[in-house]
Amino acid sequence: MMLRKLCLLGASVGAFSAAAALAQTAEVALTRLDCGNGFNDSRRFSDTFAYTDPKMPFTFSCYVVRHGDDVMVWDTGFNPGQNPNAPKVSLTDQLAQLKIKPEQVKYVGISHFHADHTSQLPSIPGATLLIGQKEWEALTAAKPMQGANVEAFKHWISGGGKVEPQPADKDVFGDGTVTILRTPGHTPGHQSLFVRLAKFGPLILSGDLYHYPSERTLKDFLPFGGRGNDAQEAVSKAKVEALLKDKGATLWIQHDIVADANLKKSPAFYD
Ligand SMILES: [Zn+2]
Repeated sequence: MMLRKLCLLGASVGAFSAAAALAQTAEVALTRLDCGNGFNDSRRFSDTFAYTDPKMPFTFSCYVVRHGDDVMVWDTGFNPGQNPNAPKVSLTDQLAQLKIKPEQVKYVGISHFHADHTSQLPSIPGATLLIGQKEWEALTAAKPMQGANVEAFKHWISGGGKVEPQPADKDVFGDGTVTILRTPGHTPGHQSLFVRLAKFGPLILSGDLYHYPSERTLKDFLPFGGRGNDAQEAVSKAKVEALLKDKGATLWIQHDIVADANLKKSPAFYD
C-alpha cells in the first residue's frame, strides 16, 4: 500500500486533541479476519437474566489494520482445533492470503487476555504487544488473574518479545487514525480500538465491552461470576457511547455474528 508522505506537524498530545488538527498521513485499511464461529451460553452475559439461550450463535473476530506500510493485528482468536469455536484457518495463513508475513506485523493490540482473543499470539512473536497496563499487571502477577491466558504471552513475559503496557489511551501511529481506548471493566486493562477510515468513516472495535448489540440498550452487566468490574464497565461504556456520538462512528461488536456476516470478507477491506 502506498504511503502518502505528508509532514507531521507535531507530536500528538492527547488521544484525540492534537490528532484532529493533523492531516491524515497514511492510507489506513481494515480487514476483518474470521477467527472462529460457534455458540455461547448467553445467560452469563446478563445479570438481569435478559438472555435465556444457552446456545446463542457467536462469532470470533480478528482484524488487520494497515497504516501505510505498517501492519497491526487486533486480537488473535483461538488456535485452530483448540475447541469447537476455533477458526478453521490460522491467523498466519490468513495473513499470508493478504501477502503479510508474520515478521511484517509491527504491532499486535489485544482487547484483553482471554483465550478467545489471544491464543494465536505466539504465531507473531516479532510484533510489539500493545496491552493495557492493568491487564499486563494481572497477567504477570505472582498469581495471575483467573481467565488470563498466560500461556499465550510467555514469549513477551520472558522478555523475548517487545511489550508496551498502556496506562492511557494510545494514538498508535501519532496521526489520530488508530487509537487504543482504555475500556476497563470486563477485565482490568480491557481496551477497544478506534480506527478512522477515509472512506468508511470512523469506527470502534468493541473488544468485549459488548457481546451482543442489545447490551447497548439493556445497560446491564456480565459479571462472569464476579470477575468483571461493573462500575468500571459502566464508565467505559459511557465513554465509548459518547465517542460514537461525537465522532459519528460505527461500532463493530467483535462477537456479533449477525453483523459480522454482512461485513466484507478478507481479502476485501474497508478504507
Ligand atoms: Zn471474547
